[in-house]
Amino acid sequence: MNEPADLYFALIAPACVVLFGVVLVLCWWAQRHRAQSKYLLWLAAGYVLPAAALAAQSLMSNAQLGKTALLTGVLYLSGAWCLAQGMSLRFAGRRASVLAGLLIGGFALSGVFYFSELSDRLWIRVLFLNLGVGLLQLLAVLPPHRLSAGADKLEKTVRWTYGLFAIYSLLRAVAIWLLPVQENAELTRSGYWLLTLAGTTLFSLWFALVLLACSVRDVFMTLRDERNRDQLTRLLNRRAFMEAAEPLLQDRRLTSWAVVAVDIDHFKQINDNWGHGAGDHVLQQFGLLLPQQVRDRDLVARFGGEEFMLLLSDVQLFEAHAIVERIRASLQSHVFEQLPSNARVTASFGVAPLTSLQGLDAALRQADELLYQAKKAGRNCVQMPGMPEFAHTQPMPVLGASESIALSAG
Ligand code: GH3
Ligand code: MG
Ligand code: MG
Repeated sequence: MNEPADLYFALIAPACVVLFGVVLVLCWWAQRHRAQSKYLLWLAAGYVLPAAALAAQSLMSNAQLGKTALLTGVLYLSGAWCLAQGMSLRFAGRRASVLAGLLIGGFALSGVFYFSELSDRLWIRVLFLNLGVGLLQLLAVLPPHRLSAGADKLEKTVRWTYGLFAIYSLLRAVAIWLLPVQENAELTRSGYWLLTLAGTTLFSLWFALVLLACSVRDVFMTLRDERNRDQLTRLLNRRAFMEAAEPLLQDRRLTSWAVVAVDIDHFKQINDNWGHGAGDHVLQQFGLLLPQQVRDRDLVARFGGEEFMLLLSDVQLFEAHAIVERIRASLQSHVFEQLPSNARVTASFGVAPLTSLQGLDAALRQADELLYQAKKAGRNCVQMPGMPEFAHTQPMPVLGASESIALSAG
């Protein structure tokens, strides 16, 4: 049909779009163990499907365009649907409405069918198709008040770019009326075609770059998370606790903190009686319970095994004691799904005051020593400096001898 150079040029845009799709697949591959990254595959399909249609159409005459209109229409529309699906997963963590997708797709395809099979009106067909693509993309666009909510700069750029992309697709539909095109000209050689091709390629490029940057950022954050967090409880590990403590203890507006060492009582018996899985379940539940009982800025870490450490900010020792008593009581009354209903889990606590970053190591040691005293005092209690060494802050019999502390009941 065309000169070879012309032909190659027409294929540049779709080839670029396919390449962006491949880049998105690679981004997904790099983070395939994260369930949330599946959206990248939808986006890749959203790039490749329309690019296939675009490549085929770029080599066609008007007559051929008419004959293949339904097939290319399905490719364009399913591509837009995949894009909406991917963005909906990313923005809202849920799929786009299938019903709305089917209605829009059906509406656009019936227009394409009518104006290709029954009355060959190329421009009206293009109008229907672009309208369908734009409306499908619109399914995942966030409402204006949510465009910036809880997002960093990169995420905001993704949201805005996608929103503008959808609007551009709708404008492309309307632009057919505005541009002075001749009805009988070859569509794929018209100014309209080249202009929208350039626009689509630029948008696709920009969008792919922003998504790529987001993926790199996501991978980086996942790695940081894996480095800083305990796998089982998702709490901070010891190193991350020490790192995070530094800026907190340098906050000049604050003057007093408290360090709390926590150790679950008779944890070995939980494993021995009900299995390692039940032990893990207790650790996970405790890992959820602890942060619920303190403020957001307080640090909660798993230092290893069944040992946890808290850094409470802006508290006097007596306030820290009240907080820790609350934690102790809530653990004691917590019902664990994977343990018999009468089984009670308890923990012992050592609370040490802290007034500066320099005192952190000493305070950690002191909290550990106080925890050891709490164990010696019979467990399920809180020890602070200045308390008589074997004084219980709480009467001990959590589970009487008859229940043989329930943990050993088997
Ligand atoms: P105490 O009241 O004196 O603290 O007694 P304890 O049984 O809690 O302490 P001990 O140090 O004797 O036992 C701790 C047990 O915790 C031994 C170890 O197998 C178990 N443990 C350590 N890490 C994990 C884990 O990630 N999952 C499970 N299920 N068990 C663990
Ligand atoms: Mg223990
Ligand atoms: Mg221990």
